[in-house]
Amino acid sequence: MPAEEQTPREQRGRRTDALVVQCSSFEYRPYFESFVLHKLGIHEYDLLAVPGGIQVLTMANYVPKFASLPRQWLEFMLKKHGLMRIIVFGHEDCAWYKDFRWGPIHVDLRRRQQSDLVAVASDLREQYHVQVNAFYGRPDEAGKVDFEMVV
Ligand SMILES: [Zn+2]
Repeated sequence: MPAEEQTPREQRGRRTDALVVQCSSFEYRPYFESFVLHKLGIHEYDLLAVPGGIQVLTMANYVPKFASLPRQWLEFMLKKHGLMRIIVFGHEDCAWYKDFRWGPIHVDLRRRQQSDLVAVASDLREQYHVQVNAFYGRPDEAGKVDFEMVV
């Protein structure tokens, strides 16, 4: 029976070992879901979706007082479900990244996001000893979103 037809009680026996960290953008959400399901073959996963996605995990570098809560959420999910794999996403034209400017005004947002993806992936691997894969999505010429593996 598909998960969406089961009650939460019926789903109790289900397991996942994966966490997805993504931007909450409604425009990209269906593409993130489809990629995780069809390209990565992950059917069940915990989800951390906030504006800017992984940017919230770089906050210690910019606004230390806001850094601890997202870390607590992440650690809670890792521990609670024994997660071993984290998928992190970035995407082109992320409104959060565009609005949340810091550092040099001429910074290339795509480069900034990819650099954040690499740094966060490395940090998560080192700190939690889990597999981490990072992907960056952007529309192809037909307007459908393609994902490239960043790390
Ligand atoms: Zn976004």
